[in-house]
Amino acid sequence: YDDRDGWIWYDGALVPWREANVHILSHAMHYASSVFEGQRAYNGEIFELTRHSERLHSSAKILGMKMPYSVEEIDAACREVLKANDLVDAYVRPVAWRGPEQMGVAAQATKTHVAIAAWEWGDYFADKAKGIRLDISPWRRPAPYTAPVHAKAAGLYMICTMSKHHASDRGYDDALMMDWRGQVAEATGANAFFIQDGVIHTPTPDCFLNGITRQTVMGLAKKRGIKVIERDIWPEELEGFEQFFLTGSAAEVTAVREAGPWNFEVGELTLGLMDDYAKLVRGQLGNR
Ligand code: PMP
Repeated sequence: YDDRDGWIWYDGALVPWREANVHILSHAMHYASSVFEGQRAYNGEIFELTRHSERLHSSAKILGMKMPYSVEEIDAACREVLKANDLVDAYVRPVAWRGPEQMGVAAQATKTHVAIAAWEWGDYFADKAKGIRLDISPWRRPAPYTAPVHAKAAGLYMICTMSKHHASDRGYDDALMMDWRGQVAEATGANAFFIQDGVIHTPTPDCFLNGITRQTVMGLAKKRGIKVIERDIWPEELEGFEQFFLTGSAAEVTAVREAGPWNFEVGELTLGLMDDYAKLVRGQLGNR
């Protein structure tokens, strides 16, 4: 990803893609003091841009990092990056991290650096509409008193990458992760939804990200008159669910046809919400 043409917004200015580097002694490299975002642009417009910029700010705040740019400045910089790279449909990746101004666990003297890159990124899961296959991760999401679970913080992705690799080594597309209690939490980069008898069930986001796509899709379901229940979900219940889908800015709405020993159909409701979401992000969803 580093050796290519293009522009990356870096601490307030556009720099050539190949020159957007960090020093090896950056605090973030050693202690995971980094937060990030991920959003998609459709037809040149970044979907829910301000909510993503606000979440970047809130993630930084949770980690005690001072953000040197306002939400409005981050919004503007994201748009600038799209334009500079001549992108219309793209993935946008803002990242904020503690720099090399201090070494050691303490980081009060570090500066928060911010960069934004964007690139073309097609479907996150090739089998999005056919249904993907999930492994059950051996790693559990940490408790809210063990890690800053509501920040989109780099450190929390260590177990996601390990779960993802464990899953792909076993021939799966991704992994479903339980939380520290053993309840169903989420996939490695997307939230989980289940359908039973026309009702949607989704885990309460008390130890993982309450995704922006998750909230959008809950709104779309309600618009269709579908009841959405947020509650504790135990893995044994997966047996009784008919449909299963994931949501995320990268994953969009992705159908799941298998999770560990359980199988699901790719039903009308999942496909309907997938279609609603695709239309909404492109501004094509009229009033129902
Ligand atoms: N959970 C995790 C672990 C994620 O990385 C993401 C993607 N940011 C999500 C859920 C979904 O969040 P969003 O819909 O805001 O992209």
